Amino acid sequence: MIYFNDVSKQYQKDTTALEGISLSINAGEFVSIVGHSGAGKTTLIKLILAEEGPTDGTVFFESVDIHKLKSNDLTKLRRRIGTVFQDFKLLSNKTAYENIAFAMEAAGKTDEEIAADVPHVLDLVDLLGKANHFPSQLSGGEKQRLAIARAIINQPEVIIADEPTGNLDPINTYEVVQILKKINDLGTTIVLTTHNRGVIDSIGKRVITLEKGRIVRDDKDGRYMI
Ligand code: ADP
Repeated sequence: MIYFNDVSKQYQKDTTALEGISLSINAGEFVSIVGHSGAGKTTLIKLILAEEGPTDGTVFFESVDIHKLKSNDLTKLRRRIGTVFQDFKLLSNKTAYENIAFAMEAAGKTDEEIAADVPHVLDLVDLLGKANHFPSQLSGGEKQRLAIARAIINQPEVIIADEPTGNLDPINTYEVVQILKKINDLGTTIVLTTHNRGVIDSIGKRVITLEKGRIVRDDKDGRYMI
């Protein structure tokens, strides 16, 4: 589904963020990307989202070279990818319900679809009772569960989660990982970056380890080795 072919990324002449990255991520996989700070995790995510372009090599989403897309087609491609970030990126002036409804409106969904789907997804992340709360009235874990609900509402094929548990305590981290596992079990591909050994161990799936911009391990059985 996602293919990196000998990809390198240099932001400036003398800083190589990624070097010689080749990997494939198949539909339905749950892949964790681990590595120390500066290893290149966020750069890899930005290349998948086409927020940055490669200096060398190609990145394909299915049969499409995503860095050759015109902006219209890129917008369409990004609708197939849901994103979750460490800092949630929720709209502070909208309630939990409205945050999700807004994402559906942006994707052109009807009022009927919104009324039917928003309660369903809030229930999935156990936030139905907080539909009318603003982000400032939610805990960190609740905010991240809301961000996940928003990420999945338009049924993307992939969820990209960049350090989604970075701001959370262990209990909330556990809950967020359980929700991501549930979403993966329902068929969505997940690509997650993390520093957290406990997260990797509790997922128990494929782990790609980056070191100084290179892949140094690609383990099917999900052990944290750095
Ligand atoms: P990680 O997410 O693993 O911490 P990053 O992908 O953010 O790693 O960074 C990889 C390398 O690229 C680091 O050396 C970082 O300083 C550098 N880098 C990241 N973003 C930029 C940027 N916008 N401009 C210049 N250098 C950058």
